[in-house]
Amino acid sequence: MELKKVLLDETEMPRQWYNILADIKMNPPLGPDGNPVTPDSLAPVFPMNLIEQEVSTERWIDIPEPVMDVLTLWRPSPLVRARALEKLLDTPARIYFKDESVSPPGSHKPNTAIPQAYYNKMFGIKHMTTETGAGQWGSALSFACSQFGIQCKVFMVRVSFDQKPYRKLMMETWGGDCIASPSNLTRAGRDALERDPDTPGSLGIAISEAIEAAVGDTTGKTRYSLGSVLNHVMLHQTIIGLEARKQMEKIGEYPDIVIGCAGGGSNFAGIAFPFVLDKMNGKDIKIYPVEPAACPTMTRAPFVYDHGDTARYTPMLPMHSLGHAFVPPPFHAGGLRYHGMAPTVSQLIVEGIVEARSVSQLSAYEAGIKTARSEGRIPAPETTHAIACVIEEALKAKEEGKEKVILFNWSGHGLLDLGAYDKFFSGKLKNYELSDEEIKQSEKVYESFPKPQVLKSR
Ligand SMILES: *Cc1c(COP(=O)(O)O)cnc(C)c1O
Repeated sequence: MELKKVLLDETEMPRQWYNILADIKMNPPLGPDGNPVTPDSLAPVFPMNLIEQEVSTERWIDIPEPVMDVLTLWRPSPLVRARALEKLLDTPARIYFKDESVSPPGSHKPNTAIPQAYYNKMFGIKHMTTETGAGQWGSALSFACSQFGIQCKVFMVRVSFDQKPYRKLMMETWGGDCIASPSNLTRAGRDALERDPDTPGSLGIAISEAIEAAVGDTTGKTRYSLGSVLNHVMLHQTIIGLEARKQMEKIGEYPDIVIGCAGGGSNFAGIAFPFVLDKMNGKDIKIYPVEPAACPTMTRAPFVYDHGDTARYTPMLPMHSLGHAFVPPPFHAGGLRYHGMAPTVSQLIVEGIVEARSVSQLSAYEAGIKTARSEGRIPAPETTHAIACVIEEALKAKEEGKEKVILFNWSGHGLLDLGAYDKFFSGKLKNYELSDEEIKQSEKVYESFPKPQVLKSR
């Protein structure tokens, strides 16, 4: 029998998260006056214990015991050798993936939802609000809130709300409340509907709604939660890469190439940041975040200061951004439809430590189907973007006759995305190419904002 999976014991799980802020220089988030935001100014939005984590520069942060107790419901996740895919591609490359689809909601997202719900609970919070794209984050937070006895309200981007009714039902099963965004419950939502009554919605608008709903609660017992982009979210996800590094070590392997798809950047950060640390310490590794060509934040948008949401409630963050008002075309990888990129991931791109890639929707689905028909697992549409890049690299290794070791993050399963697969099979999916003109136009919104400095960490 050939080795397929590398498993860790629960006792071998990492006990600390890796905080990349200890190792890179960052431009600070800016408030409306153009000055760096203070932790106090974020207090109406997030609980102080998470704000402290957001700004911490400690390299290693302990994972609290009650968080470990819930993570072990599905962690450690398996590291799988994709032998059937290797064979199909006839490549000398050895392909491994970290299977994050085994969590109860089916993606990597509960890795941060659980600690976020825990820290809110410790701070005395009773209600949490959030936004969701494809519904994975909303279902992850609903699950996490149910574990810690918190009420959860989710604003779900309209186009996904209509395309993916089962995610809403998952949220409701865990006791969450799911609302299509833009809604008429908030001013940000009503404004968006007034601008365009038929809008498919966007993560930017949904974030504005969720923040407004949290800050507007006069009892002070509601806080907002973000499923990606922010430093503390990247921190919580590093458990993926830390486990993967241990698992590879067990079998005497080490990756030449690390790949993750990137919407806001968190699952990529999760698998990649521990290897970024190794790279900064001298290891020779290629590290690729992969985005959809229809929402080309990292590959076509500049590094600027911009808001994380459409109504500009968030501070200005230093990031690659298509502009906070950007509404991406309604392609199917809902989790990759965000206008910005995590400041930490953006900083690594600016420094050339990681290299951004993009793939088209159709090549992503083709890659996903090849994988389903060889490996068996059906990947989420988001994950197929990473797989398309893996296949490119595996074929390149074949051309060069090199035994490359490729590691990627299987960020979620596609079992609730079969409607999108159906559209692919019936030829209804197409590629969306944005013109330079469209991109220039959408970027106008931050023209007048301060510009981030180009910082060098090493
Ligand atoms: C949300 C999601 C993503 C993208 O979000 P990141 O913050 O970039 O990780 C990717 N894959 C799946 C399955 C998702 O649910």
